[in-house]
This record gives sequence, structure tokens and C-alpha cells, in this order.
Amino acid sequence: MTIEEFKSHCLQIKPQPVLNCRLWDKGLSGKGYAGVWIDGKMHRGNRVILSLKLRRKIRKGFQALHTCDNRRCVEEKHIYEGTPKNNIDERTKRNRHRSAFGSENGKASHLKNILKPKTIKAIKALYAKDELTYQQIGKKYGLSRSTVCKIILDTHWSVRGTAS
Ligand SMILES: [Zn+2]
Repeated sequence: MTIEEFKSHCLQIKPQPVLNCRLWDKGLSGKGYAGVWIDGKMHRGNRVILSLKLRRKIRKGFQALHTCDNRRCVEEKHIYEGTPKNNIDERTKRNRHRSAFGSENGKASHLKNILKPKTIKAIKALYAKDELTYQQIGKKYGLSRSTVCKIILDTHWSVRGTAS
């Protein structure tokens, strides 16, 4: 397909509930990213989306990172230019927040800001019933398996307002 066709296809993908991710519904490249053939070459959808959003190429040493942790996601609002180090820093920050349960110290992760405490609770309750797998729960809420896993394991998903 052409860049234009790719772009319009992405906009036709219905956003998922909760996070509004647009999950690529065609082939995947290695490691589970959206894979798209443009002009005879396989590209990663998230990189193409980011270049279109920035109106330039991705800078050397930078990557198209997801705020939503959904590698398949091609929603431009969820994709930003960052270094692998940014990614690790974000993760470290999130993990550090684990001890500060419920507090709003420092920069909260994007996901934590957009996922309501109610949703986090509901996901945990659903898992507690022991009927669905992470993947099945993820499907219900439009989240990736790894995101659901993090919510359940509570790595950076403290519920806002429970402590001060
Ligand atoms: Zn997304």
C-alpha cells in the first residue's frame, strides 16, 4: 500500500474502549509491532505514524515509543519520539512509585492518568474471579496483555486518592 492508504486505513480502525488505542488489524512485524508493506518494503507502523505526525524522519538514535504499551497501536496520540533510555527511565519512575501507594509524587505515567481508578479496580476484580486470562481481560478493555499483567501485579497502578 501507499503511505496515504496506510494513513486512511489507520483512521478507519475503531479505537478500543478505555485507552482509545487503534490496534493494527493486519500483519505484525517481528516482536509484535504493526507491520505494513509500503512501496515494497516492510515498515513498522508505529514508526511510519510517528514520521507522519512529526512531518520528518525519526531522529537517529530515537525510537517510536508507545505511551500505551500496546505495540500494535497505531494511534498517533500514543506514539512519541524517545530514546530507549527514556523508556527505561519511565519504567524506573513507575516502579519507584510502587512504594508511594496512591500518592501523586513526581510525574505519573500517561497510562495512570487516563485509566480511571474505577477501571483498575474492575480489572482486578475481574481477575480475582479467576475466570479470564490476562489476555481475555485485555481484550475486554482494549489493553495489551502486558498492561493487564502490570495492573494485576500492581507495579505502577496505585489507585489515586486512597492515601495522601
Ligand atoms: Zn495506544
